[in-house]
Amino acid sequence: MTDEVVNVAIVGAGAAGLTGAIVAAETLANDGKRGPVLLLDGAKRIGTKILVSGGGRCNVTHEVVTPRDFFGNQNIIRNILAAFSVDRTVAWFASLGVILKREPTGKLFPTTDDARTVLTALVARARHAGVIIRPGHRVTGISTSSTGFLLQHSHGRTQASRVVLATGGQSLPRTGSDGFGYQLARGLGHRVTATVPALVPLVLDRSMFHATLSGLSHDVELTTVVDGRAVDRRTGSLLWTHFGISGPVVMDAGRFWTLATNRDAPVDLYGNFVPGRTSDELKRWFATQTAQHPRRSLTRTLSILVPDRLADSLCRHCSCDSQATMAQVSRHDREKVLSTLTRFRFPIERDRGWNFAEVTAGGVPLEELNYRTMESKLVSGLYLIGEILDCDGRIGGFNFQWAWTTGWLAGQSAARSLVAAKVPLRSA
Ligand SMILES: Cc1cc2nc3c(=O)[nH]c(=O)nc-3n(C[C@H](O)[C@H](O)[C@H](O)COP(=O)(O)OP(=O)(O)OC[C@H]3O[C@@H](n4cnc5c(N)ncnc54)[C@H](O)[C@@H]3O)c2cc1C
Repeated sequence: MTDEVVNVAIVGAGAAGLTGAIVAAETLANDGKRGPVLLLDGAKRIGTKILVSGGGRCNVTHEVVTPRDFFGNQNIIRNILAAFSVDRTVAWFASLGVILKREPTGKLFPTTDDARTVLTALVARARHAGVIIRPGHRVTGISTSSTGFLLQHSHGRTQASRVVLATGGQSLPRTGSDGFGYQLARGLGHRVTATVPALVPLVLDRSMFHATLSGLSHDVELTTVVDGRAVDRRTGSLLWTHFGISGPVVMDAGRFWTLATNRDAPVDLYGNFVPGRTSDELKRWFATQTAQHPRRSLTRTLSILVPDRLADSLCRHCSCDSQATMAQVSRHDREKVLSTLTRFRFPIERDRGWNFAEVTAGGVPLEELNYRTMESKLVSGLYLIGEILDCDGRIGGFNFQWAWTTGWLAGQSAARSLVAAKVPLRSA
């Protein structure tokens, strides 16, 4: 068992914690002070989530990042994002030796197309800045003391003048982010709003046709209706899978379904498979098609609007004869087909859970922090950053941007506050 004393202890060596540690150590050094910045992580190997991100390529950020790309208090998010912009992020990564490239979607990836480039660069820079990195050190308790904080961890105790909580959320718990950080935050007096999986695929009722379409992707407009009110509408690519639905638009919409389900609110997800076209427009289109091509089959006609396989499945779903000619399709069947095309109710059984969620919705309320510094308003000297906070981004590099930005702010603020407070800095 060891007892050590440090200036800044950062709990969690993910994207946010690594950034915070680097910036804290470099800010202290720039002020002519050198003192220990300690990075503790419960996992044996750090940065696993960075390595698996973006399909192993790490979508570091997006060319345009605005508060609207995040869910949470928009005013606070705007102020936080302004502190460390995309341009500064790109330049910072370049200074680490990681050159980013832009893809047509606006997502930025390392030119190597390898997430390891990002992790290796962050760890190398942290070591160079003098950060002490301790994997396999799970923090089990944090209390305040006359000199700052006392951290209990699996190898002993650490005293720290400043503590940065960067323990992530609950997504992909095997990486070490298992939600225990919320308990640490609560122990220090913070609230934690309900946490649910976000950026998560959805599992459909087994009687549905999804498995037969597995691998097919196409655009759809999704509308989530909670308590009878549309709370979210978005258009994008949906991917049919053996278990249900995935793809960017489903991942982005999933949080509204999980949040509503978590509070037992009635929730439905509807799809318009012909995005941008209303049922009335399609009714007229149908009438024209019937007049112009009366002998064309229903499925062939629908295939003009949606992929062939989906057209077939939709006909079967609403018990309509897919081979019937347009002239044979009854008014009743036409209505059924139109409503299935434009207001398809997905029979959702459940979300795919924490092992498949990319991020957590909910967490420590942003209102409990000073957005200029990420310091807790409740406990002086405590900083909270990254996914532990009640802010989640849509798919596209926004969650990492949140981690880099909040990490940068907290690292700089914690170090500056130490210098300003003239706390005797312990030498490394
Ligand atoms: C499969 C997948 C793909 C993703 N792809 C992208 C992407 O391409 N782009 C993007 O922007 N976002 C992506 N994300 C989301 C992004 O990875 C996270 O939002 C981001 O990593 C959060 O960073 P963080 O530092 O806050 O938390 P984390 O990365 O979760 O790090 C938290 C760290 O804290 C440690 N820890 C937890 N509790 C303790 C404790 N008690 N004591 C000590 N250590 C502890 C954990 O071991 C972990 O290392 C993806 C997520 C997943 C799961």
